[in-house]
Amino acid sequence: MVDHLSVALLFGLLFLLPVLEASPGDADPLYRACVEQCEKTGCIMQRCFPACEFSSNALSSNGSWYMHEPLYLQWKQWDCLSDCRYYCMIDREIERAALGEAPVKYHGKWPFTRVFGVQEPVSVAVSVLNLAMHFQGWLSFIILLWYKLPQKLDKTSYYEYTTLWHIYALLSMNSWFWSAVFHSRDVDLTEKLDYSSAVALLGFSLLLAIIRSFNIRIEATRVMIAAPLLAFVMTHILYLNFYQMDYGWNMQVCVTMAVLQLLIWAVWAGVSNHPSKWKLWTVVIGGGLAMLLEIYDFPPYKGYADAHALWHATTVPLTCLWWSFIRSDAKYRTSQLLKKTK
Ligand SMILES: [Zn+2]
Repeated sequence: MVDHLSVALLFGLLFLLPVLEASPGDADPLYRACVEQCEKTGCIMQRCFPACEFSSNALSSNGSWYMHEPLYLQWKQWDCLSDCRYYCMIDREIERAALGEAPVKYHGKWPFTRVFGVQEPVSVAVSVLNLAMHFQGWLSFIILLWYKLPQKLDKTSYYEYTTLWHIYALLSMNSWFWSAVFHSRDVDLTEKLDYSSAVALLGFSLLLAIIRSFNIRIEATRVMIAAPLLAFVMTHILYLNFYQMDYGWNMQVCVTMAVLQLLIWAVWAGVSNHPSKWKLWTVVIGGGLAMLLEIYDFPPYKGYADAHALWHATTVPLTCLWWSFIRSDAKYRTSQLLKKTK
């Protein structure tokens, strides 16, 4: 029983905690009145939501109602609030548009039109596309190393950064998976998973940028660089998940890590005589320009594609080129090493 209660409480904390930050949209008294009314009656005007039909016997039967179907009820209650917020927002935005007013954010988000219950369909589709690009890139990287390039006698590749790129591929695909989930339904849990995965990926790719551009091949030196960086990234993820979801601080950390690695790659592309450095340049400049989209945060066009979705879209071709660079790098390093041994 205690277990049931604690699970119910945990779920309650995960899903029902009100979003703390207030945006212009949810500060609007008309919107607030609509949500309040909807939560009480389960309806907005003539439209009623199945998720808001709480059967009265479930609530008043002897014993606590949450002992019976705790998770289901909690989920339903959350779903009801989500539906109320969504339809009140849509109605409010139609009224505002009729008055010629620009869209505003609600609970930190632009007003998106749901498609089959999916909150931001464009961002979801683009996230899946990014995941597919990473998978394709990774696969061709593996094929190149295993079947096309010469291998050492112990069947391992000459390329010294193979394992690092494998980890990078897995972290990237993990990150895009949770991005797709988060943009489908934005709740506390999916948000944490998305943010944590993105931080882990950014931290690791910064490590990769340092190790590759400085040509660090000695295991002990790698560990010396990795330890403090990974410790910081881990601490930051734990902080976000279990202490405080500080959006401002997280943004600073992420932007710093992203700008640092772009700078490292750019400087390296400038000084090295890598045969594929134009690919590096294109990704660095493209990535830098794409970041402007995230800063210039415009509302969704027709309720679908906002700046964030477009930003995710720009990474699709960049990912393709990025894996092409990684493959070229593997070929280049292998040929260099073979030249030396001959
Ligand atoms: Zn996103």
